[in-house]
Amino acid sequence: MRYFGVYVDDTNDFYTYSDPEDSYKVGDRVMVPFRGRWKSALVVYEESSKEFNFKVLPIARKMENHISLTESMVKLLRWIQDYYLCPFGQVLGAAIPGNLKVEYIHEYRLGSGFIPGTPEEGEIQEYFTKKLEVGRPTLYKRFGKEAVKEALEAGILEGKSKIKLIPQEDVGERYRRIAAYFKERERVGKSVVEKHFEKGVIEKLLKAGRLVLEKTVREDVRESDGEAEKEAYAPRGAVLSPEQEEVRRSIEESDKRYFLIKGVTGSGKTEVYLRLIKDALAEGGGAIFLVPEISITPQMINRFKGEFRDNIAILHSKLTPAERAKEWLALHRGEKKVVLGVRSAIFAPVENLKYIIIDEEHEGTYKQDTNPRYSAKYVGIKKAELEGAKVVLGSATPSIETYFLAKQGVFQLLEMNNRYKGAKLPKLKLVDMKTEENQFFSKEMLKDISTTLRKDEQIMLLLNRKGYSTYIQCHDCGHVEECPHCSISMNYYMQSGIYKCNYCGYTKRYEPRCSSCGSKNIEHSGKGTEKVEEEIRSYFDTGIIRVDSETSREKNFYERMYREFLEKKYNIMLGTQIISKGLHFPDVTMVGVISADTILNFPDFRSGEKTYQLVSQVAGRAGRGEKEGEVLIQTYQPESYVIRRIMEGNYEGLYEDEIENRRLMNYPPFSRIINIIISSQSEEDLEGYATEFFKRIGSSAQGVEIYGPMQAPIYRIKGRYRYQLFIKGSRKAVGAIKPVLRDTAQEMKENKFRITIDVDPINL
Ligand code: ADP
Ligand code: ZN
Ligand code: ZN
Repeated sequence: MRYFGVYVDDTNDFYTYSDPEDSYKVGDRVMVPFRGRWKSALVVYEESSKEFNFKVLPIARKMENHISLTESMVKLLRWIQDYYLCPFGQVLGAAIPGNLKVEYIHEYRLGSGFIPGTPEEGEIQEYFTKKLEVGRPTLYKRFGKEAVKEALEAGILEGKSKIKLIPQEDVGERYRRIAAYFKERERVGKSVVEKHFEKGVIEKLLKAGRLVLEKTVREDVRESDGEAEKEAYAPRGAVLSPEQEEVRRSIEESDKRYFLIKGVTGSGKTEVYLRLIKDALAEGGGAIFLVPEISITPQMINRFKGEFRDNIAILHSKLTPAERAKEWLALHRGEKKVVLGVRSAIFAPVENLKYIIIDEEHEGTYKQDTNPRYSAKYVGIKKAELEGAKVVLGSATPSIETYFLAKQGVFQLLEMNNRYKGAKLPKLKLVDMKTEENQFFSKEMLKDISTTLRKDEQIMLLLNRKGYSTYIQCHDCGHVEECPHCSISMNYYMQSGIYKCNYCGYTKRYEPRCSSCGSKNIEHSGKGTEKVEEEIRSYFDTGIIRVDSETSREKNFYERMYREFLEKKYNIMLGTQIISKGLHFPDVTMVGVISADTILNFPDFRSGEKTYQLVSQVAGRAGRGEKEGEVLIQTYQPESYVIRRIMEGNYEGLYEDEIENRRLMNYPPFSRIINIIISSQSEEDLEGYATEFFKRIGSSAQGVEIYGPMQAPIYRIKGRYRYQLFIKGSRKAVGAIKPVLRDTAQEMKENKFRITIDVDPINL
């Protein structure tokens, strides 16, 4: 007999169950008896032992309407659990939509049962108007046993031997309202009906069979693309340039597994990805293509839909669980073979996976910043190894760590140094803001914007900070408007007239006076996109569109933005780093970076790299068409090596500077890091608890440096006080301390405290 380690949903633990008839395999979703109840579960591994000193129960059955995971997927989930030190349930939850179940929709429709309180069937009520109570046999004789029982069931009558009428008030009336409501609708979603009508009435009608609740498998999730739209997706059948062809050949013909395409913006990397996927499909293979964010790039979606039509699943973060589940099913059944998606699409069940392609591989969005804190890039590398697929990372400005691995030969490095069709890279200009009067726009910036507008060309302006101002201080008493739940200043959003905390989302109404002393003498500093928009409007009378996480909350914002900017309804686009990604407008000939310093000043060892990446990427939006582009960069730190490398367009140089620093400081890629936050709603005992945690792991740690515990840079977030520990060491040593961390966190588990472990953090 075989025994399996089974993950029982919601328990975060594995339990042993038997498989007496050899009916299950790893990856099956099953039902098991668990502490006297039925629970859904996942078969995770076969137990090696056959002797147990406890009673082992058999797995009951397979779950209905589920899809099994492949063995390699289960292995991948376990790897994530161990590598990122997170509970299995969390991994499963993040990786798989709706716990693998097919999403049902629950809807009400009218049934044909007994109608309480309606005139036709009101005889019983009528009879009772003259009597208070009646013996059961008398009633049976008069109306028939069935009708009386139904009336009892429907809550019209009550009693055992003596039966009396429950005052009906207006059940009939309420029923008629529901009936009228359903006249125009055949089926109505469960939650809608329950919002409209009282629960008691619905229950009565359900009992009486007058309303029927049905569940159906959801099939109509996505509206089909209209014919006209299909036309727009026509594949273009691009012929690769010699440079692109060389990259394609190197990847397809190599027996290596990992590749890095380092190609300048506009060199035609996407065209290479498309071709690789097409070739994989032709051989019956599939592919996963990850992008940092999907909603901002309708172009990318159209390009992929054009090539792959119904063969592609598009997985982005705005899908409902039902929509996600539907795409999963299509992939699982092999009806679709290509996935275009964001981070979590790395888990998509693509059959016969040939490629995992990760575009803009340096982007931070590939790392999840909530539990489980996995990196889709690293998970992708692991997944490719488990499934025998190839990994292709692409970027114009690879992360220092990836480039290091490429230089070491772990990734095969493929370079594309020319823009497609010889389009020129934009010219870069630097402005030292220290000598300027206006803190937003240098004279040169204003001049160049107006020249560009006069030529009827378009401009993109980058400011990596949203809102109006980020710091509001009273001149009289010195009070700073702070979030009541976080130790951070509130941001002011002028358009919505609110203060908002960017950490916890807390908002309050803006008052143009100090909330402490009432003085109107308050100063706004820390300029954001709203403020800069106001400034531009004071200089230029032209169409301006602002793109940040505030404006983009509007439904279909990106589609509209993209269309309207392309049609030149606007001439200036002002936005946060959102606009640096993937946008392609042929008439944008000028890019302005309002401040190159916002990221550079972050106390993070990657801030130089991140600045270089952001500025180069937004610069890459300029001059993508026929016309040459220019980029103007404003900074207070022109002497910084990062700014110098940007101006030289010298990624190699930046890499050399950075890698030297990292080597000196023993930062990644020369070491691995784990960041630990210990938090609590009260400060009481928190430091002591954090110190105890530190002591316990410190005593069994070898070859790692442990810093802390210290107060986190932002001491309080969402009402929780936070202490931080920081572990750094060789890959091996950090790997060795992981089990210690897990056990210690388990031993010290206390409701009052929360231990959050971030392996390979990307923000420090
Ligand atoms: P990247 O992804 O490197 O930024 P893209 O793949 O978006 O570059 O290519 C830049 C532009 O050049 C796009 O408009 C693309 O359609 C075009 N292009 C690239 N390669 C080809 C090709 N082989 N045939 C036709 N157009 C191409
Ligand atoms: Zn004040
Ligand atoms: Zn807050």
